[in-house]
Amino acid sequence: MSKLQNAYLYSRVSNVDAAKHGEGLRRQQEKAKDWLKNYPNYKLSDKVFVDAGKSGYHGANLDPQAGLGSFLEACERGIVLPGSLLCVELVDRLGRLPPRQAKNLFNKILDYGISVAIVKWNLIVDAFSNNDDLSSDLLLTVGFHLAYMESKQKSERIRATHAIRRQVALSGGKKRTAVAPAWLRLSDDRSTFTVIKSRAELIQKIYQLKLGGKGANIIAREFNEQGIPTFSGKPKWSKTTINTYLRTTAVLGHFQAHTVTMVNGKRVYTKSGDVNTDYYPEIIDESIFYQVQSTFKNNNAGRFGNFQNLFRGMTKCDLCGSTMSWTRSPSSTGIPNFYLRCTNVYLKKLCSKPSVKYEAFEDRFIDALLNGEIFKDSFESELSEKSKQAKADLHILQQQKSNIQEAITLASPEAITELVPLLDQLHLQINATKQFLFESQQQINNSPIQEINSLLRTFDTKNQTQREQLNLLLKRTIATIKPSRDSFTIDFKNSEKSSKINMIQC
Ligand SMILES: [Zn+2]
Repeated sequence: MSKLQNAYLYSRVSNVDAAKHGEGLRRQQEKAKDWLKNYPNYKLSDKVFVDAGKSGYHGANLDPQAGLGSFLEACERGIVLPGSLLCVELVDRLGRLPPRQAKNLFNKILDYGISVAIVKWNLIVDAFSNNDDLSSDLLLTVGFHLAYMESKQKSERIRATHAIRRQVALSGGKKRTAVAPAWLRLSDDRSTFTVIKSRAELIQKIYQLKLGGKGANIIAREFNEQGIPTFSGKPKWSKTTINTYLRTTAVLGHFQAHTVTMVNGKRVYTKSGDVNTDYYPEIIDESIFYQVQSTFKNNNAGRFGNFQNLFRGMTKCDLCGSTMSWTRSPSSTGIPNFYLRCTNVYLKKLCSKPSVKYEAFEDRFIDALLNGEIFKDSFESELSEKSKQAKADLHILQQQKSNIQEAITLASPEAITELVPLLDQLHLQINATKQFLFESQQQINNSPIQEINSLLRTFDTKNQTQREQLNLLLKRTIATIKPSRDSFTIDFKNSEKSSKINMIQC
């Protein structure tokens, strides 16, 4: 070649910000210019082809409007002449298409009679050379492969994040009910609550006054005397309103979905689904809330303070599936006995389930909690075992990957063809393992088992507050407990497995 040929620079940065700052592009261009000094038979064209902010993964840079696309078009229209050189930093700059498509694109450029320089590899693939150089061919194959895998990994990570978000949304996580408690404001997209500070402070004040020994009546009267406006626009604070705020677990962030049906012209609310304990922002500290609950005298609503059945909401009959509820029956000694009894036996004589003595059952259950029997086969403990294993696996996989990557830089062309599929497989395995670890960590973090264990350290079976707390925590992970005289069975919310605990410890 006696005549000077044109060399064209093509650069691509996929990140929009990097494109704005121009750093990625300038770096690629400077390097190419430097390198080109070694090839005096080429002169650098003023025309530079650039794709900024285009991901090569879906081939967006191939659009005729885009840089590489417009380069191909310039070849097509004879503006870029055969014999020219296209300079790229690395093959991944040409795109991150699946390897075969990437190879086709590369060949298309060669077919226009354009040689391609891969600056970093100090490699020129000559469009006119007939005897294909095997080692540069393999080098390109590996390059396309790595470029694609890396990008695939990235886009799979993004997709995984979307999938998790969608899951959260499906389980009612993101979208919130339109009805917010009076101290919260719902964002326009219904995804978050913000605390109305002045109102939250007033609720906190109500709790403090109550703990200070003032009843709802007195608090309401004081607020009215001070002219504090109500949240609802009602003219005056009432005992009922104050009590409602003192009793609602919404201040802790809890939410219980209800379905409403009309019965004889009246609205009847039925609980539906589980309590979501992380729904609203918490405005009252849990310990303060339960202290306040314990100041209420035993009440026939049986909602708080009166917490006989530690397993309320979980105890079910193994024969008919009906609720087993706590009952008291007088005995000949005058000291009452406590039982769990199937409501079908109790109410309708529809079930033959023998009643189960409550105290022995509770004692055994707490024992089994303390010595780890209850959660031994739970989803969470299985998951944390699996996570440990997965972490060890990941370490080995990553070691193998870096071994292979190093081997590729040293290997003969024949060996490279064998190494590439291995690398491919490792990428997939590493992705899957990372994904598993991420998901299981989230599930472990959401599990109440750690909280249960820390509560148990100071657990006093007579402390109503603690009973209430333990009940709520257990309900987050246990679906049902089916008590019998000689054993009980636990079904978990997250697992197909159930645990069977014998009343007499082996
Ligand atoms: Zn029954």
